[in-house]
Amino acid sequence: MESFTAGLISLETAREKMLAAVTPISETRRLPLATAAGLVTAGPVISPVNVPPFANSAMDGYAVRLADLATGQPLPVAAKVFAGSPLAADWPPATCLRIMTGAPVPAGADAVVMQELAEVSEAGVRFQGVVQPGQNIRLPGEDIRAGATVLAAGVRLGAAQLPLLASLGVSEVEILRPPRVAIFSTGDELVPPGQPLADGQIYDTNRFAVRLMLAQLGCEVQDLGIIRDDETALRAAFERADADADVVISSGGVSVGEADYTKSLLESLGEVNFWKLAIKPGKPFAFGRLPNSWFCGLPGNPVSAALTFYQLVQPLLAKLSGRQGPSLPPRLRARAVGALKKQPGRLDFQRGVFSRGADGELQVKSTGHQGSHVFSSFSQANCFIVLERERGRVEDGEWVEIEPFNALLGG
Ligand code: AMP
Ligand code: MG
Repeated sequence: MESFTAGLISLETAREKMLAAVTPISETRRLPLATAAGLVTAGPVISPVNVPPFANSAMDGYAVRLADLATGQPLPVAAKVFAGSPLAADWPPATCLRIMTGAPVPAGADAVVMQELAEVSEAGVRFQGVVQPGQNIRLPGEDIRAGATVLAAGVRLGAAQLPLLASLGVSEVEILRPPRVAIFSTGDELVPPGQPLADGQIYDTNRFAVRLMLAQLGCEVQDLGIIRDDETALRAAFERADADADVVISSGGVSVGEADYTKSLLESLGEVNFWKLAIKPGKPFAFGRLPNSWFCGLPGNPVSAALTFYQLVQPLLAKLSGRQGPSLPPRLRARAVGALKKQPGRLDFQRGVFSRGADGELQVKSTGHQGSHVFSSFSQANCFIVLERERGRVEDGEWVEIEPFNALLGG
């Protein structure tokens, strides 16, 4: 792999290089529907049944034969047919059937006439208007035919997909093994929440962001905790993480000041590029190959770590997991409410709140302080304000691009 230690690399180039490097996991598993949530279909899912499974009435009304209507005589009601109870008796000629919505339409019926068009008398039922063959009868397979593909390969099973399979009586589904991801945070200053902070220490934020986002992506997570800035400890962590993960994700230690021994360590273990991304926040980022796994080195600053995970690691994991389609929401245009600080040179991902303005157009407001250590900017936001590399300060009322958060960031 080429090395990119010098100069800035664009986000798109970094993403393309990462995506080009990996191929989707191909191991499959057959799982009961209830445990397949969040996983990705290994192949197309075929409907074993017709939906609806039998001809049924779309209305409360009367099932009729067109030949009987042609006589112009009132038709006595021979029987009543309810949903869930097919007609058991014979249906004599020159009669009609009272039928309810969803009830099986008996063989021989040409149409169902809605009850509003029926005149009921002692002699039987007369019908107003022209009755078309097939009217108000839902045919078997009208919604889904047996043998039809209901889900393509590479579809993530969520609340829109699992109930569909349940409605077809499908009880098991073939899915791709989800990626196994090992994570750890690096830094002598880091302490897990729940312990008091000594002078100079801070709480480990990144592992919470990364672990949660991985869980939402359907990955299996191995959490190795906090690793000290010590070459032996780091080497042991990398070797353990690499042993049975598809992807190893660390945070911290990839910026210029610290990169030296992480860099020489990683270079002795595998082939890793240290990039300076032309984005703000989140400049340093490492990607490459360890003996058994892929490696993503996130920057230490929590906002940068979450942003680079979201923009680079999320698409990588989507590809590895075999998922088809875009992994990030489409960008939209919105009008800036208030000015936005920006220097030309890097693609800027400010955190913003978008909504629909009184004029019907989308508008977006910054969450305020955009420092890469200000994690609260994420919790208040519902989108990134994406400002082009060459752009400078944005004035109030100018058009900007926004990227709504997906579920990973609570969008
Ligand atoms: P580094 O890239 O290791 O030099 O870290 C850059 C900055 O991010 C430093 O201020 C670190 O203290 C901070 N940092 C690194 N890792 C974490 C973490 N897991 N949680 C919160 N802050 C972190
Ligand atoms: Mg550090």
